[in-house]
Amino acid sequence: MIVLKSSHEIDLMRRAGKITAAARALAGEMVKPGVTTQEINNAVEHFIRKEGAIPSFLHYNGFPASVCISVNDEIIHGIPGKRVLQEGDIVSIDVGAYIGGFHGDCAATFPCGTISPEAQNLINVTRQSFFEGIQFAKEGQRLQDMSAAIQAYAESHGCSVVREYVGHGVGTKMHEPPEIPNYGHAGRGPRLLRGMTLAIEPMINAGKAAITQLSDGWTVKTADGSLSAHYENTILITDGEPEILTVPAI
Ligand code: MG
Repeated sequence: MIVLKSSHEIDLMRRAGKITAAARALAGEMVKPGVTTQEINNAVEHFIRKEGAIPSFLHYNGFPASVCISVNDEIIHGIPGKRVLQEGDIVSIDVGAYIGGFHGDCAATFPCGTISPEAQNLINVTRQSFFEGIQFAKEGQRLQDMSAAIQAYAESHGCSVVREYVGHGVGTKMHEPPEIPNYGHAGRGPRLLRGMTLAIEPMINAGKAAITQLSDGWTVKTADGSLSAHYENTILITDGEPEILTVPAI
Protein backbone atom coordinates (compact mmCIF):
# COMPACT_ATOMS: atom_id res chain seq x y z
CA MET A 1 0.00 0.00 0.00
CA ILE A 2 1.30 3.46 -0.89
CA VAL A 3 1.04 5.73 2.15
CA LEU A 4 -0.28 9.27 1.62
CA LYS A 5 1.18 11.79 4.04
CA SER A 6 -0.86 14.42 5.90
CA SER A 7 0.19 18.06 5.83
CA HIS A 8 1.71 17.66 9.31
CA GLU A 9 3.66 14.61 8.21
CA ILE A 10 4.83 16.50 5.13
CA ASP A 11 6.16 19.28 7.36
CA LEU A 12 8.14 16.67 9.28
CA MET A 13 9.47 15.28 6.01
CA ARG A 14 10.53 18.77 4.91
CA ARG A 15 12.62 19.00 8.06
CA ALA A 16 14.20 15.58 7.48
CA GLY A 17 14.75 16.46 3.83
CA LYS A 18 16.57 19.70 4.56
CA ILE A 19 18.97 18.01 6.96
CA THR A 20 19.58 15.23 4.46
CA ALA A 21 20.27 17.66 1.63
CA ALA A 22 22.63 19.68 3.82
CA ALA A 23 24.48 16.47 4.66
CA ARG A 24 24.80 15.72 0.93
CA ALA A 25 26.16 19.22 0.29
CA LEU A 26 28.68 18.87 3.10
CA ALA A 27 29.85 15.54 1.70
CA GLY A 28 30.17 17.05 -1.75
CA GLU A 29 32.33 19.91 -0.48
CA MET A 30 34.67 17.36 1.07
CA VAL A 31 35.25 15.48 -2.20
CA LYS A 32 38.86 16.44 -2.96
CA PRO A 33 42.05 14.58 -3.82
CA GLY A 34 43.68 13.18 -0.67
CA VAL A 35 40.52 12.87 1.41
CA THR A 36 39.47 9.40 2.55
CA THR A 37 35.92 8.16 2.24
CA GLN A 38 35.98 7.46 5.98
CA GLU A 39 36.64 11.15 6.68
CA ILE A 40 33.60 12.12 4.64
CA ASN A 41 31.47 9.54 6.41
CA ASN A 42 32.55 10.75 9.83
CA ALA A 43 31.92 14.42 9.09
CA VAL A 44 28.48 13.68 7.65
CA GLU A 45 27.50 11.51 10.59
CA HIS A 46 28.63 14.22 13.01
CA PHE A 47 26.59 16.82 11.13
CA ILE A 48 23.43 14.69 11.07
CA ARG A 49 23.64 14.00 14.80
CA LYS A 50 24.37 17.67 15.56
CA GLU A 51 21.10 18.48 13.80
CA GLY A 52 19.30 16.10 16.15
CA ALA A 53 18.76 13.44 13.50
CA ILE A 54 19.97 9.86 13.08
CA PRO A 55 21.82 8.57 10.00
CA SER A 56 19.22 6.41 8.25
CA PHE A 57 21.73 4.07 6.64
CA LEU A 58 23.77 3.18 9.75
CA HIS A 59 23.03 -0.48 10.56
CA TYR A 60 20.25 -0.57 7.94
CA ASN A 61 20.15 -4.27 7.06
CA GLY A 62 23.58 -4.33 8.69
CA PHE A 63 25.20 -1.56 6.61
CA PRO A 64 28.29 -0.55 8.63
CA ALA A 65 28.42 3.21 7.96
CA SER A 66 26.30 6.37 7.81
CA VAL A 67 26.93 7.27 4.17
CA CYS A 68 27.20 5.17 1.02
CA ILE A 69 30.25 6.34 -0.94
CA SER A 70 30.72 4.73 -4.35
CA VAL A 71 33.71 5.69 -6.49
CA ASN A 72 34.05 5.48 -10.31
CA ASP A 73 32.73 2.08 -11.44
CA GLU A 74 30.98 1.56 -8.12
CA ILE A 75 27.26 2.23 -8.54
CA ILE A 76 25.84 2.22 -5.02
CA HIS A 77 26.33 0.94 -1.47
CA GLY A 78 30.07 1.58 -1.33
CA ILE A 79 31.39 1.30 2.23
CA PRO A 80 33.51 4.25 3.44
CA GLY A 81 37.00 3.33 4.56
CA LYS A 82 40.67 3.97 3.94
CA ARG A 83 40.29 4.68 0.23
CA VAL A 84 41.97 7.96 -0.65
CA LEU A 85 40.15 9.94 -3.32
CA GLN A 86 42.23 10.72 -6.41
CA GLU A 87 42.14 13.53 -8.93
CA GLY A 88 39.72 12.52 -11.67
CA ASP A 89 37.53 10.24 -9.55
CA ILE A 90 33.79 10.59 -9.56
CA VAL A 91 32.24 10.03 -6.16
CA SER A 92 28.63 9.06 -5.57
CA ILE A 93 27.34 10.05 -2.15
CA ASP A 94 24.03 8.64 -0.88
CA VAL A 95 22.77 9.78 2.50
CA GLY A 96 19.65 9.55 4.64
CA ALA A 97 18.59 11.26 7.85
CA TYR A 98 15.80 10.30 10.25
CA ILE A 99 14.14 12.86 12.51
CA GLY A 100 10.64 13.33 13.89
CA GLY A 101 9.68 9.86 12.75
CA PHE A 102 10.49 10.40 9.06
CA HIS A 103 13.37 9.84 6.67
CA GLY A 104 14.93 11.99 3.98
CA ASP A 105 16.94 10.25 1.25
CA CYS A 106 19.12 11.83 -1.43
CA ALA A 107 22.26 11.29 -3.47
CA ALA A 108 24.54 12.95 -6.01
CA THR A 109 27.78 12.24 -7.82
CA PHE A 110 30.61 14.74 -7.31
CA PRO A 111 33.80 15.31 -9.30
CA CYS A 112 37.11 14.96 -7.46
CA GLY A 113 39.29 17.73 -8.83
CA THR A 114 39.42 17.81 -12.61
CA ILE A 115 37.55 14.95 -14.27
CA SER A 116 37.32 13.76 -17.85
CA PRO A 117 34.68 15.22 -20.18
CA GLU A 118 33.16 11.74 -20.38
CA ALA A 119 32.80 11.55 -16.62
CA GLN A 120 31.29 15.04 -16.43
CA ASN A 121 28.86 14.13 -19.18
CA LEU A 122 27.74 11.05 -17.24
CA ILE A 123 27.15 13.15 -14.12
CA ASN A 124 25.17 15.69 -16.14
CA VAL A 125 23.06 13.07 -17.93
CA THR A 126 22.28 11.29 -14.66
CA ARG A 127 21.21 14.49 -12.93
CA GLN A 128 19.14 15.67 -15.87
CA SER A 129 17.44 12.28 -16.18
CA PHE A 130 16.00 12.87 -12.70
CA PHE A 131 14.52 16.19 -13.79
CA GLU A 132 13.19 14.64 -17.01
CA GLY A 133 11.50 12.00 -14.85
CA ILE A 134 9.88 14.36 -12.39
CA GLN A 135 8.20 16.29 -15.17
CA PHE A 136 5.73 13.42 -14.84
CA ALA A 137 5.64 13.43 -11.03
CA LYS A 138 2.15 14.86 -10.93
CA GLU A 139 -1.16 13.74 -9.56
CA GLY A 140 -2.93 11.59 -12.13
CA GLN A 141 0.17 10.47 -14.00
CA ARG A 142 1.15 6.80 -13.99
CA LEU A 143 4.26 5.88 -12.04
CA GLN A 144 6.12 4.54 -15.06
CA ASP A 145 5.61 7.80 -16.93
CA MET A 146 8.55 8.92 -14.77
CA SER A 147 10.46 5.70 -15.36
CA ALA A 148 10.10 5.88 -19.12
CA ALA A 149 11.23 9.51 -19.22
CA ILE A 150 14.36 8.75 -17.19
CA GLN A 151 15.23 5.79 -19.40
CA ALA A 152 14.60 7.63 -22.65
CA TYR A 153 16.81 10.54 -21.63
CA ALA A 154 19.68 8.40 -20.37
CA GLU A 155 19.67 6.02 -23.32
CA SER A 156 19.35 8.80 -25.88
CA HIS A 157 22.61 10.16 -24.43
CA GLY A 158 24.43 6.88 -24.87
CA CYS A 159 24.17 5.73 -21.27
CA SER A 160 22.42 2.73 -19.71
CA VAL A 161 20.05 2.31 -16.79
CA VAL A 162 20.70 -0.01 -13.85
CA ARG A 163 17.81 -2.46 -13.53
CA GLU A 164 18.43 -4.24 -10.24
CA TYR A 165 18.07 -1.19 -7.98
CA VAL A 166 15.20 1.26 -8.11
CA GLY A 167 13.62 4.28 -6.45
CA HIS A 168 11.03 3.85 -3.75
CA GLY A 169 8.47 5.42 -1.47
CA VAL A 170 9.94 7.00 1.65
CA GLY A 171 8.40 8.11 4.94
CA THR A 172 8.33 6.50 8.36
CA LYS A 173 10.42 3.78 6.71
CA MET A 174 13.30 4.47 4.38
CA HIS A 175 11.97 2.03 1.82
CA GLU A 176 8.21 2.00 1.37
CA PRO A 177 6.05 0.99 -1.59
CA PRO A 178 6.01 1.66 -4.46
CA GLU A 179 9.16 0.57 -6.26
CA ILE A 180 10.08 3.17 -8.89
CA PRO A 181 12.21 1.69 -11.68
CA ASN A 182 14.36 3.99 -13.80
CA TYR A 183 13.10 2.19 -16.90
CA GLY A 184 9.63 1.22 -18.00
CA HIS A 185 6.66 2.04 -20.14
CA ALA A 186 4.61 5.22 -20.02
CA GLY A 187 1.02 4.56 -18.98
CA ARG A 188 1.88 1.72 -16.63
CA GLY A 189 2.00 1.50 -12.86
CA PRO A 190 -0.15 3.02 -10.14
CA ARG A 191 -1.58 6.51 -10.51
CA LEU A 192 0.27 9.17 -8.58
CA LEU A 193 -1.69 10.91 -5.84
CA ARG A 194 -0.96 14.04 -3.85
CA GLY A 195 0.66 13.22 -0.54
CA MET A 196 2.90 10.48 -1.94
CA THR A 197 6.55 10.98 -0.96
CA LEU A 198 8.95 9.28 -3.32
CA ALA A 199 12.71 8.85 -3.67
CA ILE A 200 13.49 9.12 -7.37
CA GLU A 201 17.03 7.93 -7.98
CA PRO A 202 18.43 7.17 -11.40
CA MET A 203 21.58 5.04 -11.36
CA ILE A 204 23.16 5.45 -14.79
CA ASN A 205 26.18 3.69 -16.31
CA ALA A 206 28.44 5.06 -19.04
CA GLY A 207 28.80 1.52 -20.42
CA LYS A 208 26.48 -1.45 -20.20
CA ALA A 209 23.74 -1.87 -17.61
CA ALA A 210 24.96 -5.13 -16.09
CA ILE A 211 26.13 -5.07 -12.47
CA THR A 212 28.29 -7.17 -10.21
CA GLN A 213 28.60 -7.27 -6.44
CA LEU A 214 31.87 -7.06 -4.52
CA SER A 215 32.77 -9.68 -1.94
CA ASP A 216 32.21 -7.13 0.85
CA GLY A 217 28.54 -8.03 0.45
CA TRP A 218 27.51 -4.44 -0.22
CA THR A 219 29.31 -2.58 -2.98
CA VAL A 220 27.59 -2.83 -6.36
CA LYS A 221 29.68 -1.99 -9.42
CA THR A 222 29.39 -2.07 -13.18
CA ALA A 223 30.20 -5.46 -14.68
CA ASP A 224 32.15 -3.88 -17.54
CA GLY A 225 34.16 -1.51 -15.33
CA SER A 226 32.57 1.59 -16.84
CA LEU A 227 31.80 4.66 -14.76
CA SER A 228 28.47 5.00 -12.95
CA ALA A 229 26.63 7.99 -11.49
CA HIS A 230 23.67 8.44 -9.15
CA TYR A 231 21.29 11.28 -8.44
CA GLU A 232 18.39 11.26 -6.01
CA ASN A 233 15.93 13.48 -4.24
CA THR A 234 12.93 12.83 -2.05
CA ILE A 235 9.92 14.50 -3.66
CA LEU A 236 6.29 15.17 -2.75
CA ILE A 237 3.47 14.66 -5.22
CA THR A 238 1.09 17.62 -5.15
CA ASP A 239 -1.83 18.73 -7.28
CA GLY A 240 0.68 20.79 -9.27
CA GLU A 241 4.43 20.67 -9.67
CA PRO A 242 6.27 18.18 -7.45
CA GLU A 243 8.01 19.61 -4.40
CA ILE A 244 11.59 18.52 -3.79
CA LEU A 245 11.91 17.85 -0.07
CA THR A 246 15.68 17.30 -0.05
CA VAL A 247 16.53 20.95 -0.75
CA PRO A 248 18.76 22.46 -1.91
CA ALA A 249 18.72 19.89 -4.72
CA ILE A 250 22.34 20.61 -5.87
MG1 MG B 1 16.98 5.83 -2.00
